[in-house]
Amino acid sequence: MKKLLEKAKTGAELTREEALQLLGIETCSSDYYTLLGIANAEARRDYQNCGSILAQIGIEASPCPGNCAFCSLAESVFRKEDSFVLPIETAEQIADLLVQQGTDELFLMTTANYTNSDFLEYAAKVRRHLPEGMRFVANVGDFDLEYAKELRKVGFTGVYHVCRLREGVDNDLTIAQRIRSIEAACQVGLELYYCVEPIGPEHTYEEMVEEMERARKYGADVAAVMKRTCVPDTKLYERGELSSAELAKICAVAKLFIKPKRAMGVHEPDVLCLMSGANQIYAEVSVNPRDLSLSTETSRGASMEKACGFLRAANWNR
Ligand code: SF4
Repeated sequence: MKKLLEKAKTGAELTREEALQLLGIETCSSDYYTLLGIANAEARRDYQNCGSILAQIGIEASPCPGNCAFCSLAESVFRKEDSFVLPIETAEQIADLLVQQGTDELFLMTTANYTNSDFLEYAAKVRRHLPEGMRFVANVGDFDLEYAKELRKVGFTGVYHVCRLREGVDNDLTIAQRIRSIEAACQVGLELYYCVEPIGPEHTYEEMVEEMERARKYGADVAAVMKRTCVPDTKLYERGELSSAELAKICAVAKLFIKPKRAMGVHEPDVLCLMSGANQIYAEVSVNPRDLSLSTETSRGASMEKACGFLRAANWNR
């Protein structure tokens, strides 16, 4: 292990087997703290000690056919009568405010239900509120090459799109359709934001490394780790959540393995992960799949102010 940690410290590319060995380090052992320290040092160096906040507006909620067993918007748990689309004028005001508060980038999120044409029209209006050069990212259902081109045309610079852990087992989607969307995005030059998610206590290190490899394969310049949040009434609620200590180890290994060029994130914001390789977190407004409230900024979601506080707590500059 000493030799492997020495290798990790040099910044050399790690193999799958090496990532697995690092994930096998006992949490809270002395090797654990060495690992966290190495990932932290690499992140501070790579990101010039700058923290990053990406703000996401959830613009729509409805019973989602993706039916992810951890999600508050899955059709198995979300009531049709609670369906909701954030009025465009409100989204425009929120975008103005988030820009004013200093977000680095803006994401728009919908369920897999929302129609493509409505989304394009909506996004084009929000785009006008962003300063020149600000990145604009879509977090939406699966799509094909033609739609990826449309996303670019309305001004999106990237997409958040991943193969979730146990895709096709814990939801009604398939790995093939997720990959088709990822490849379509990459083909038209949309930047890919990748994440190992949503990690629960039942997931194996092999499953996690598979997604880290996918992030590396598709050249994700922004990567992240996210633990599953237990949302009451969802099917996976009973499986529980990972500890922050365990997530920090996974975060450290993901940083050292993927080496995302622009940022390494953690959802939800977590100070321990921000000391273990992550420099990026999200502020969230309106709908959030991990929340029962349709105004997550007053519930689970971090406001810009709160997100800034997390970065400050971990000594990341803004
Ligand atoms: S996580 Fe996304 S795709 Fe899955 S049910 Fe929720 S909104 Fe739908």
